Amino acid sequence: MKALIINDVHKKYHNGVHAVKGISLSIDELSFTAFLGKNGAGKSTLMHMMSTLTEITSGSIKMFDYDVTKDDEKIRSLIGIVFQHSMMDGILTVYDNLSIRGSMYGLSKESLHNRILEVSKTLDIEELLKREYGSLSGGQRRKVDIARALLHQPRILILDEPTTGLDPKSRQELWEYIHQLRVSSSMTILLTTHYLEEVMDADQVIVINEGLMIENASSHALREKYTRTKLYLSGNGPLEQSLIQDSIQYVVHQNRYVIPLSSPFESVEIVSKYQPLIQSFEVIQGTMDDVFFALTSEDQ
Ligand code: ADP
Repeated sequence: MKALIINDVHKKYHNGVHAVKGISLSIDELSFTAFLGKNGAGKSTLMHMMSTLTEITSGSIKMFDYDVTKDDEKIRSLIGIVFQHSMMDGILTVYDNLSIRGSMYGLSKESLHNRILEVSKTLDIEELLKREYGSLSGGQRRKVDIARALLHQPRILILDEPTTGLDPKSRQELWEYIHQLRVSSSMTILLTTHYLEEVMDADQVIVINEGLMIENASSHALREKYTRTKLYLSGNGPLEQSLIQDSIQYVVHQNRYVIPLSSPFESVEIVSKYQPLIQSFEVIQGTMDDVFFALTSEDQ
């Protein structure tokens, strides 16, 4: 089943910014989808539209059997959202914050209490429940924000740049929790990010640039399409002469000869052929960085 179907959606803000310029896509239920793009690409705007927080200028968004705009209340009950700016009150305890947020979902006092304990366990924040939200570290706050978004057991979890602004260790830790959530819960997860390593294991990667969707594929497929494995050879003049003689394409980068390969196995042939002339070699696989660069560089 499709969790989300977006059809030719546009957003023009009142100031004239055309932030989303006709995006269409669909997302499978229970999948993990990453929206990747530079700052200002239009990712948050798209998330806001699907979350009913900003009006759609034209086009349509369907979530399961419901339409954004027509069925907004139902849609809000289906989604849990973590935005870049927290909605928590800094001087209240974590428990009170969760309790106030949770009371908006019409749970009884007891079920809400049990649910707070349950989500706190999932995110390992039980120790923090009595602390003031404002006294927590960035990483701890993010975990509490996610716990808040999970209180009403949403079917879709939307994470808008959840790790932005965190130090590398907290990012890594939070990322592991998100990973666990994916495995342990039956939720469809949508994530926006500009950290490329966070999209490596997404089922679907949607690349947005200047309000347009410029790619929609698995991260594996994107790497296959946009990156090439490269062989780096160190050697001296005779090596270069041989490469030229044999018409092998190369560029020189930091005193090494860089040869693009169509498969990593090609390196075996090249290295054995020129072995006496090679001082050292390295085979480097393409990364999501290459994909992002290929897709969003200015000379596209
Ligand atoms: P991203 O999430 O990819 O960084 P955004 O969706 O936040 O991108 O922004 C897309 C464009 O829309 C930017 O040019 C931004 O300045 C503009 N924008 C975002 N929110 C508003 C708003 N509330 N009013 C006017 N322009 C906005």
